[in-house]
Amino acid sequence: MRHLAIIGSGPAGYYTAEAAQKQWGDDVRVDIFDRLPVPYGLIRTGVAPDHQSIKAVSRRYEKTALSDNVRFVGHVTIGQDVTVEELQGLYDAVIFATGAPNDRPLDIPGDRLNNIFGSAAFVGWYNGHPQFAMLDPVLTGKHAVVVGLGNVALDVARILSKTPAEFEGSDIVAHALDVLRSSKLEKITILGRRGPHQIAMTPKELGELANLDRASPRVDPADLPDEGEDALLEPGMRKSVTHLRSFAAIPESERADKSIEIEFDFYGVPRAVHGDGRIEALEVAETALQGGRLVETGKTYEIPCDLLVSCIGYRTSPIPGVPFDDRMGRFANDEGRILPGLYCVGWARRGPTGTIGTNRPDGFDVIEKIAADLDAGVLGPGGKQGRAAFDRLAEARKLDIVTFRDWKKIEEAEEQAARDGAPREKFVDIGKMIEARG
Ligand code: NAP
Repeated sequence: MRHLAIIGSGPAGYYTAEAAQKQWGDDVRVDIFDRLPVPYGLIRTGVAPDHQSIKAVSRRYEKTALSDNVRFVGHVTIGQDVTVEELQGLYDAVIFATGAPNDRPLDIPGDRLNNIFGSAAFVGWYNGHPQFAMLDPVLTGKHAVVVGLGNVALDVARILSKTPAEFEGSDIVAHALDVLRSSKLEKITILGRRGPHQIAMTPKELGELANLDRASPRVDPADLPDEGEDALLEPGMRKSVTHLRSFAAIPESERADKSIEIEFDFYGVPRAVHGDGRIEALEVAETALQGGRLVETGKTYEIPCDLLVSCIGYRTSPIPGVPFDDRMGRFANDEGRILPGLYCVGWARRGPTGTIGTNRPDGFDVIEKIAADLDAGVLGPGGKQGRAAFDRLAEARKLDIVTFRDWKKIEEAEEQAARDGAPREKFVDIGKMIEARG
């Protein structure tokens, strides 16, 4: 019997468990740990609340979760309740699927002023992550700046733009919907340090900006490269740039009845934040590409700014004793191998890139490596006791573990609390989640 501990119950964790089942069938036992009492990681707290079809992938993870040889062990923080060394003593392999939950910092003067948030925090706020439920952003100003040219920047700009009616069918949490309902925003600037040909936005997500009830996207035609140059782009990127071209061509008459403008501001990088207590303006350094290299031109300009959300990528949380690549913000690893018996998958391995599906081959790859290491005797003589020994340790420490069955009760309570047309109203407080398990 092989015993695996997976830390993190998001897509990377569940695809790895699925791969372990395929590899060893009934000869494996997998425990999936999560510090939250609820599973699915970024599917629950990262994927936008108005993208329910993407969230539906959790049904696939549920199938894995409900099989006898995979178990969800919620409400346990590795490195705090149990150490990595202890897990290594109990399981043949320990796999970090902890994602990249921390914001890459903007790191500019003034970035500690109020109403400035990283996207992990801001997205966590509107998605009901217990860590960020108390964020309290103020949307009573006119102008928001969203930094970054990736899909997270698009999510944030879209969520800030939607009317309450456009959230029908979504699972946006009540506290966020209330704040958005009273929003006074008139302009959202998406600020990118490079140009239209360097965006990291995918076509479907970018296209959504054209179909918002009260917001209209704007691109300055002068920022667009010659159309002929689009032919050099790969097809997905070409489609995205086609959207930008169509935003540049929207006639003023069509914008007249929209109360929010989503403006793309290319070739600018945040230099400093100004304000008295709360952010009031963003100083931007103009940039240019010279032979593909990003340079500052020496010119600066200021954007009035009442809210700043920086969507410039994420970092994995280091865990004491586990080698960490500080520059890349992820575990130091060789294609998933950290140290003998310690592995990583997903964003904890690669950094914050790719789609949800990218995690599947990652999971299968790491399981192949673990199988090879087991066969080669790299992981010691075996005979580990796995979940039975973990249960003894948990009992001795009085850990309040949340099982998958408990989660199903929490889920049921969330579904019952849903407002009309919504799939659920999430608990945003860990104590309330535990209470709902009964
Ligand atoms: P991303 O795609 O890597 O985009 C990050 C953006 O931040 C880039 O435009 C980058 O510019 C910019 N940036 C980085 N450091 C900066 C700095 N110091 N100053 C200014 N700009 C800076 O990351 P993401 O948007 O966080 O998304 C993470 C992953 O999740 C991506 O793979 C994304 O596609 C995926 N995702 C998918 C969906 C969806 O499919 N619906 C939704 C959300 C997220 P440079 O390019 O110049 O470095």
